[in-house]
This record gives sequence, C-alpha cells and structure tokens, in this order.
Amino acid sequence: MANFKTIQENQRLMLSCLQSSSSGLGDDVEDVLPAPTLYLSSFGGHSLGDAVRRIFKKLGTNSVWSFYSLKGKKGKLPFSDLPICKVIIRACMRTYKEAKTSAVEHQISEALKHAPKRKGGQKYKVKMDKPMVINNFIGGVMVPCQDHIDSHDPSTGLVWTKIPDSGQAEVDAAVVAAQAAFERWSSKSAQTRANHLLKVADILESRLEEFAVAESRDQGKPVWLARTIDIPRCVLNLRHFAHAIPHHLNTSNVNPEMGVVNYTLREPQGVAGLISPWNLPLYLLTFKLAPALMCGNTVVAKPSEMTSVTAYMFCKVLQDADFPAGVVNMVFGRGPSAGQALITHPQVPLVSFTGSTLTGKLIAQATAPMFKKLSLEMGGKNAAVVFDDCDMESCITTLKRSSFINSGQVCLCTSRIFVQKSLFKDFLEKFTTVAREVKVGPPSDKDVFMGPLNSKPHLDKVLKYISYAVEDGGQVLCGHGVDILDLPSQNKEGYFMKPTIITGLSDESRCMQEEIFGPVTCVTPFDTEEEVISRVNDTPYGLCASVFTSNLARGHRVAHKLKVGTVWTNCWLVRDLDMPFGGVKKSGLGRESTQESLEFYTEAKTVCIKI
Ligand code: NAD
Repeated sequence: MANFKTIQENQRLMLSCLQSSSSGLGDDVEDVLPAPTLYLSSFGGHSLGDAVRRIFKKLGTNSVWSFYSLKGKKGKLPFSDLPICKVIIRACMRTYKEAKTSAVEHQISEALKHAPKRKGGQKYKVKMDKPMVINNFIGGVMVPCQDHIDSHDPSTGLVWTKIPDSGQAEVDAAVVAAQAAFERWSSKSAQTRANHLLKVADILESRLEEFAVAESRDQGKPVWLARTIDIPRCVLNLRHFAHAIPHHLNTSNVNPEMGVVNYTLREPQGVAGLISPWNLPLYLLTFKLAPALMCGNTVVAKPSEMTSVTAYMFCKVLQDADFPAGVVNMVFGRGPSAGQALITHPQVPLVSFTGSTLTGKLIAQATAPMFKKLSLEMGGKNAAVVFDDCDMESCITTLKRSSFINSGQVCLCTSRIFVQKSLFKDFLEKFTTVAREVKVGPPSDKDVFMGPLNSKPHLDKVLKYISYAVEDGGQVLCGHGVDILDLPSQNKEGYFMKPTIITGLSDESRCMQEEIFGPVTCVTPFDTEEEVISRVNDTPYGLCASVFTSNLARGHRVAHKLKVGTVWTNCWLVRDLDMPFGGVKKSGLGRESTQESLEFYTEAKTVCIKI
C-alpha cells in the first residue's frame, strides 16, 4: 500500500512536470499517439516494460531514432504502471512534434529527479538519440555536411532524418574523388568489376528487411511493397548488369578483302552524374549505378532530397563490401544546389536523370552547351485502353494496381482509362467498387495497399488536380471528397488520400493532359479503335500504355500505333531488364536496358589493324 502511494505521488510530480507539453491530448494515449517515432527499451520484462512494449506493438513501431533507456529492476521504478508510462510517451511525442528533442530529454530527467532513490544510490539514466543525421559519402568515407534539410516521415508528418544540404563544394570534392578512382576502376576487367557488384548485391540481399522498412518509412510505400518489389529489384539491378555487361562490351570482325581486323572498344567516359527521384528511391538509383559502374565509369550520385535514407544505407553496404574507395560517391541535397552543381560540373561528361519533365528540361538546357551525354527519364500521362472483348475481371485487377500502387506515384501508373462504350457503365461500377475497397493506412500495416503520398506539397498538388477536375466539369465517383478517410490517430498528420476515380472530363481538361502523379485516374468512354488511338496519343507525354483485349491481332495493331516507349497488353509493369525502357515526346530521351545502358555509359572506338 505504501508503495502504491509512492507511485501516486510520483505520478502527480510527473504530471506537473510534463503538463506544459502534454496539453490537448485525450486520456487514452494509445489512441492519440502520432505514428511510431519513439522507441523505449531496456525494461527487462517488468511491468513498465510490458506496458511500453504493448503500446509500441500497437503503434507498430519499427523505428529507433529516438531512444530512451530507463534502467531499473522490477518494483524499483517510480513509473511501474501503465498510466505514468503513457504520460512519459505523451510528453515525448508532443514535444517531438515541436521538434525540441532536448526538451524531451530535459523533461524526463526532471521527472526522474523526483523518483525514489534506487538501491545503492544509483541514478536512473536517460539516453536519447537525436534524429538520424545522414552524411555524404565521398572517397569511400562518410563526410559530415555543415547544413541539413529536415526529411519527414510521410505517414506522420514528423521529422525523422536530417540530410546534408550539399552545394558546389561537396560536389567538387565528390567529383575529385571519382576522378581519382577512375583510372584504376576502368582498367579492371569487366569480370573483376562484376565481382565487386555481386558482393554488394549479396550484402544488400542479406539486409533486405532492414532496407524495406527504411524505404517504406522514408517514401511512404507499404513495407510489403518495398520488400517484394523495390529492394529485390535493387539486388536484381546489380546482379543483372554484373552478369550481362561483360558479354556485350566489345565486338570484332575480319575483312579479308581489305586485309584487316576491326574491333570495337566500348570505353567508359569518366565520372557519371546520376540524379534520381523519390518515388522508387534505391530501385531507380541502382538501375543507373550498376550499368555505369560495370561499363568502367566512376560515379557521383545525387538521390532525391525527399528520400535519401536507403541510398545512405547503401553507402554503408559499399563499405562493408570493401568496394574500392571513390568509385561511388553520394552527395545528398536539393536539386537546384547539389543537383545543379553536379550536372554542370565540367568534369562530369555524362548525366543520367530520372524525374519530372520540368527538371529534365532545365537539365537539358544547362547541359546542352557543354555537349554532355544525356539520358532523361521523365513524366507520363499513361493510358489504358479497355476493349469490350477483354477479360474484365483480370483487367480491373490490373488497373487497380496500375492506378493506385505506391499511391499512384510510379511514372508508369495509369491515369487515363479509355473504356469501350458497351462496357463503360459496367466497368465504372466494378472499378469504383474495387477502388473503394483499397485499404489506405500506415505503411507498416500488412493489409494496407496504399500508404501516404510522399510529401505535403505533393499531396496538396494532387488534391488541387481534383479541384481542377470539378472546375472542368468532371464527376468524382469515389475517393477524395466523396469517401471518408479513416486513419489511426497517430497518422492524422500524414499525407494520405483515398484512391480517386473521375469521369466526365473532356480530353483537353487538365486532369486528362497533365501528370498528376497520385492515386487519381480518369475514366472516359470511346467507340472505335481508330478513335481511341488518336485520343490516347493526344497528350504531350509518351511513356507507356496498356491495352486490354482478347483479340491478339488488335493488341499488336494498337500497340504499333501508340506513341509511347512501352505497350503492355493484358498486363502492366512486367519488366525485363534486357528490354529497352524509356519514353517519347516529353516523357524522355534515350533508353535504359542491358544494351541501351551499355551504349549510354560508354563510347565506341573502332580499332583497325592490317593483317
Ligand atoms: P524532380 O524532377 O523534382 O526531382 C528529381 C531529381 O532531380 C531529384 O533528385 C531532384 O533533387 C533533382 N533536381 C531538381 N532540380 C534539379 C536541377 N535544377 N538540377 C539537377 N537536379 C535537379 O522529380 P521528383 O518529384 O523527384 O519525381 C517525380 C517525377 O519523376 C514524376 O514526374 C515522374 O513521372 C518522374 N519519374 C519518371 C520515371 C521514368 O522512368 N520516366 C521514373 C520515376 C519518376
């Protein structure tokens, strides 16, 4: 009983101490805590530990960027019951929202001053880690940067990492390191280079889960998606190019009439500048990195400032694989500063870019007078054509994926669906039902199909397009503004929205012409094959399209006439890395694949010898 009173007393002290930071939250902390940003441990099985574990299990926490260690034995802690434990967490979360990490530490320390003395007079220890700070990777070592940019967890809106805000000086240092490494790296045999990449692939694969969780946390995609698509594809990128490039590098012929032997060398260019976007962070970065390296180039990469974490973790994998120093350098930061410094650097002769058409245009303008070799993978306004002879069930299943996977943030996602008139009504009904069933929520939840969008400005942009659709006479059938978005309280500040289907828009409307890059798709009817081909082609973009029909001849016919880089028939996003990938019109310049990437990352030299 005496012990119980002590606990009550301590609760009172704790509460008064924490009051300033716990205002406005409801009584049931388990229901109001924001998403998993806090991690308490070292409780060794006593009641407080169990309570904490219960709360954090409920939160689905998987992150460890803030860490408290309250060490003590059973019955000796002042807060050995659930309510006080909730108060601590509440205070921490509230203060964290305001990003005052030192204040949290201070509050806990203050509270502990009022705790009963422990046996032997030991003090309770409070330890807290600050948000993960990312460093640049230059010349094989992690190099701290003076200035940082906050990076937010899209499922909660809270800051969870700080990434370098690099500029010219950091890029210059990275290019110098890459240049210094070039001679040795490019003179290694392709097989030796392959062995290095394969070792990296093995280590990456062994850390798949860790990378999947981080990619999900940073980008917003469900963990299952990162686990089954993103990270396995990174491993495949490395292995594919390591195996394929050595067989394609050089060719030769003998010309008996001229009495010569010709052979061709495919030579690396030097330092490749790689710029990647936030929607498939490590997936697209490794798709550039692997062929660039296998061809003998060294690299300076600048991942998106929105999603830098897995690229940083990848640098640690390179270190663990004893990858030669300076061959891969990673400079983190914003596009207009770090990105611009990289693409305009005089010692970077080739630039591979994936991102928006707007940025692609800026890069083309900046690099053209320098005669740099340029590959541009840009935006899309991808169409699906649904003929009335298709297998509707499988078509709808595919279109659910193609419209809403990764919250519609894949450059290849479908955003215009043309449905043959006789099928239109039936299709809309079924497709809307399926879209309404899509579960939206925390990316760590295994049943969630759609996590948050990547950032607040991006969510605002996507929602703006829905208001444009309404202004342009469209009808929102389901999703944003129509259906209720039901989120756990910890995700209320996250960047979520419902899958949205719009109909009734003219082909000229903004939602039918411009890239939205979110879970929004517009459905419209058509009559004839000829008509639909012309309408699909009527946008400035030309990345990909999909056609649904059981008529094979029609499938081929339509595919030949669509002005895009890839046409899928009765499927979507089935990729073979040997097949050229890229877009036409405002969607891109150049192609990526075994052969195309090899050609991009090398220049051919013909050597002719008289025999
Ligand atoms: P973005 O153009 O804003 O940024 C892409 C990258 O370019 C980032 O790393 C950014 O920091 C950098 N950047 C920005 N300005 C720069 C500058 N002036 N100089 C150098 N670098 C600069 O694109 P995003 O918002 O990150 O990505 C979404 C876009 O990417 C969408 O349009 C999508 O369609 C496109 N995308 C295309 C493909 C494809 O293969 N075609 C694949 C994925 C994404």
